[in-house]
Amino acid sequence: MMIPIAKPLLDEREIDAVSNVLRSGMIAEGAQVAKFEAAFAEYIGVEHAVAVNSGTAALHAALLAYGIGAGDEVITTSFSFIATANSILFTSAKPVFADIEEDTFNIDTNDILDKITPETKALMPVHLYGHPADMKAIMEIAEDHNLIVIEDACQAHGASYGGTNVGSFGTGGFSFYPTKNMTTSEGGMITTDDKTVADRARMVRSHGSKQRYLHEIVGYNLRMTDISAAIGLVQLDKLDDFTSMRQKNAKVLSDGLRNIDGITIPSIRNDCEHVFHQYTIRAENRDDLATVLNKAGVGTGMYYPIPIHKQPVYKELGYDDKLPECEKAAMEAISLPVHPGVSKDELNEIIENVKNGVEIID
Ligand SMILES: *Cc1c(COP(=O)(O)O)cnc(C)c1O
Repeated sequence: MMIPIAKPLLDEREIDAVSNVLRSGMIAEGAQVAKFEAAFAEYIGVEHAVAVNSGTAALHAALLAYGIGAGDEVITTSFSFIATANSILFTSAKPVFADIEEDTFNIDTNDILDKITPETKALMPVHLYGHPADMKAIMEIAEDHNLIVIEDACQAHGASYGGTNVGSFGTGGFSFYPTKNMTTSEGGMITTDDKTVADRARMVRSHGSKQRYLHEIVGYNLRMTDISAAIGLVQLDKLDDFTSMRQKNAKVLSDGLRNIDGITIPSIRNDCEHVFHQYTIRAENRDDLATVLNKAGVGTGMYYPIPIHKQPVYKELGYDDKLPECEKAAMEAISLPVHPGVSKDELNEIIENVKNGVEIID
């Protein structure tokens, strides 16, 4: 039996919630979605939340809601899931990649400054693995250069910086994919304090209309169903418990893996609440370690083995960046199971196997 790298935790509460929606006969976007939006907005601490059918859709709709498009540049990180940069491409704007910080794997704010041009319209930091990006510096840069901030918070439900939740500094995009800190099966959410942005995102979500059969802009069908929202409401109620279990598990792993040659455990910056979507270490012989761990029944993840700017589709577009920290991280990062479904015994098994693995490889 493999200890999985991710596992959604669902029980009778979600099953009942879904059954109730199915029995009601109202199964598309309706009352459950409205309730979920209100609850999520309150949780994050924003005025408005707009539910959509994926995290990718949340980022895409947020960009469109700000009017970002052809001729605009958006500075983001190449060390992320491809959806981050693709959401920018969807709008015909250009993703521009800044390098990352060694300790947090998040976008390097000094490199952001080097990448700003007259075409730069927005910054899209990612709170990777659940660790907040350096939002103080990012908001200062945004203010100085009059830039929009769209936070990719797809891995960071409940993470905070200086006591403020991510997704509430600028406009946030969250994902509720089954591997994330909470799920709706597929799903996403835009969080914002800007009413105009929320209203436009709602139009983008549903064929550009506020009023049925009156279409003011070109929109899409990005709607969440009440079935998904019903799952989301239960999961949101459990999120704080899930998060504290992730944080406890991370602490056990770090206590067990500190001071091992060739391994670097995750660091947490001052003033940051890390929600450990992933527990990601650096390992000198990452690929060998993964093989040994998988053989021993420990699931691992590589997020992400090929940076976005090195993906075939981006090379085809002419991307040829040199991002040394990003490229190094892509070779060294390996994630270990940290989700709330990992037991105490399994944590010890993971620690022992990493120690053994490092010795075998040596
Ligand atoms: C999961 C994820 C997305 C996309 O979310 P989906 O719900 O899968 O569309 C975007 N960015 C990051 C960093 C993610 O982890």
